[in-house]
Amino acid sequence: MKITQGKINELLTEPGCEHNHQKHGEKKNKSCAQQPKPGAAQGGCAFDGAMIALVPITDAAHLVHGPIACSGTWGSRGSLSSGPMLYKTGFTTDMDENDVIFGGEKKLYKAILEIKDRYKPTAVFVYSTCVTALIGDDLEAVCKAAAKKTGIPIIPVNTPGFVGSKNLGNRLGGEALLEYVVGTAEPEHSETYLL
Ligand code: SF4
Repeated sequence: MKITQGKINELLTEPGCEHNHQKHGEKKNKSCAQQPKPGAAQGGCAFDGAMIALVPITDAAHLVHGPIACSGTWGSRGSLSSGPMLYKTGFTTDMDENDVIFGGEKKLYKAILEIKDRYKPTAVFVYSTCVTALIGDDLEAVCKAAAKKTGIPIIPVNTPGFVGSKNLGNRLGGEALLEYVVGTAEPEHSETYLL
């Protein structure tokens, strides 16, 4: 998923929102476009927003590709589940100084394979963070190679904290679902139901 300024503008424009009015309801505002500062935004950045949107998918593993501190708010959100509780387990590549210098792609690839072997998830969501985006790790390429190797969907969520607010991250998480999940497979069987 490529994050362009056009995509960000599109996601932050909410002409249909009833709360989104200027005085007298004559014109519409854009929603909050406040830019957080990396490192000063822990718990409120776009990465955090994307996790909040996607971690409720309970039978998938959610892997944070970044320093351990980015996972500091893990476990603060709940989700209803018909059984699987894998979403409660936090996974991170725990990037350190060496990884920043030499790159974290191999570490990420190995982490995905280990999660697949040990936890048997139905899918793995992989989240970028400020650090891994700034050093140029190619999240999409690693996820594509890992999906081929494991045979399960490995979904890149390219929402490093510096791209914007938590609110924007919520929307970008949804965009990742639209781009990499929705419409990519059919269920083994489907039921008919009446409204
Ligand atoms: S992704 Fe960036 S802004 Fe968000 S917690 Fe990590 S370092 Fe901080």
